[in-house]
Order: sequence, then structure tokens, then C-alpha cells
Amino acid sequence: MKRMAFKVTVILAAIALVAGAAEKVYKWEVHDMSRPVPPVITPGAENFLPPSDAIVLFDGKDLSAWQSSGDGSPAKWKVENGYMEVTNKGGEIRTKQTFGSCQLHIEFCTPAEVKGDSQGRGNSGVFFMGKYELQVLDSFNNPTYADGQCGAIYGQKPPLVNVCRQPGQWQTYDVIFHAPVFKGDVVEKPATITVLQNGVLIQDNWQIEGTTFHKVRSRYEPHGPTGPLCLQDHGNPMRFRNVWIRELKDNTEE
Ligand code: MG
Repeated sequence: MKRMAFKVTVILAAIALVAGAAEKVYKWEVHDMSRPVPPVITPGAENFLPPSDAIVLFDGKDLSAWQSSGDGSPAKWKVENGYMEVTNKGGEIRTKQTFGSCQLHIEFCTPAEVKGDSQGRGNSGVFFMGKYELQVLDSFNNPTYADGQCGAIYGQKPPLVNVCRQPGQWQTYDVIFHAPVFKGDVVEKPATITVLQNGVLIQDNWQIEGTTFHKVRSRYEPHGPTGPLCLQDHGNPMRFRNVWIRELKDNTEE
């Protein structure tokens, strides 16, 4: 009898749990007319051009939004014909403004004249918050380790597909990056990244494992809520153009 009573209690508890779940309180009613509508923005004249709420980081004219990562001096890369190009010993550059979660559009071109192989060919990288590298490489018929090819989260995750264009052709990255959240020294919410290369999904909401390193397993290093966007100088004359970013508020709305 006691056992029966226990069973009934368990069943009733389970029903209460399910009922409790169904009673979730929503901030807004379905089709609630008082729910704020999203802001209106104007799209770029073409989909690759910045919409009205984007921060333009490079419009082909100058490097005023950038500085040398090493010492904060003016960026030493070359600007011509609407693009910027890594110069000999130009060094890594970073944005003066810092960002957390964001949507980024950037176009890159690996050298038309193919020199070197593996990681020595058309290498650069886009570093979110100065720490998380989305690899840029000439991966057109250029074997290298999978987690270091173009579109990889360096040392962590190869791209889903290799959709690289030929050397000397312009390519696009469209990225949605969510910044990590730390509680003290511990990561409470890892960063995530989604990447389209040339319009094709190559990273699908990848949960970033930490700061990206060469030959060292990634790990999180606590940092603030924003950081610069950095472009790597890996000794190759890489070109970039049409760089714009939209700051994202992490979605806490139910
Ligand atoms: Mg790189």
C-alpha cells in the first residue's frame, strides 16, 4: 500500500512539473501590440555594402579607424585602389574602437602571384576581441592542417567546406560573433561564431574554446566586455576592403 502511495506521489509530482513548465510567464502576449518593434535601418545599395547602422572600418580611402597593434602608432599598411595591403614589416593592425558581440563584413584577396605553401601562402587572420582568430589563408589547392585552413577557427575548428576562390580574386566573410561572458576568472558563457564565406556557411554557431594559439590548445583568458578587431600580418601581401561592423546587443529578451 505504501509503495502504491509512493507511486501516486511520484506521478503527481511529474504532472505538477509538466504543468509548471506550461505556466512559463512571457513578457509579451502573442501578437502583443505594445511590444516594441525593431528599429528601421536602411540596407546598403548592394548587400555587401554597409547598412545605415554599421560602423565603417575601411571604405577604401584611409586607415583612420586603425592603428598598429604593437605600439598604437598609425597603421603602416598601404592603401591604394580601394584596398589596404599588408606591407613588409607593417605589423598587425587593430581597430581604435573596441567591440564585443558584432556582425562583421570584410573582403579579402590573397596574392595573385602564388608564393609559398601551406601556412606560408596568403596568410592573415581576423581576430575578434584581439584573441579569437578566424583564419585567412590561400586554401585554393594548398594543403595544410585542417584547423589552420582558410575559414578555420585557428587551432580549433576547420570550416564546414572549402569554398575558397582562386588566388587574386576577392572573397567575403560575413560573421556573427558573440562575445564570451566571464564570472571572475571563469568563462560563464563561451563565445560563439557563425561565418559565411562567399555567401556559404562555413562555421555554424561554433562555441569557441578560448584564445587561439599556434601549436597550443586554446584556453580562455579572462578579459573585458570589448576588444579590438585585429588583422594579422603574417608576411604575405594580403589585401582587405569594404570592412564594416554592426554592434550587437546580446539578446536577453524572451
Ligand atoms: Mg593567420
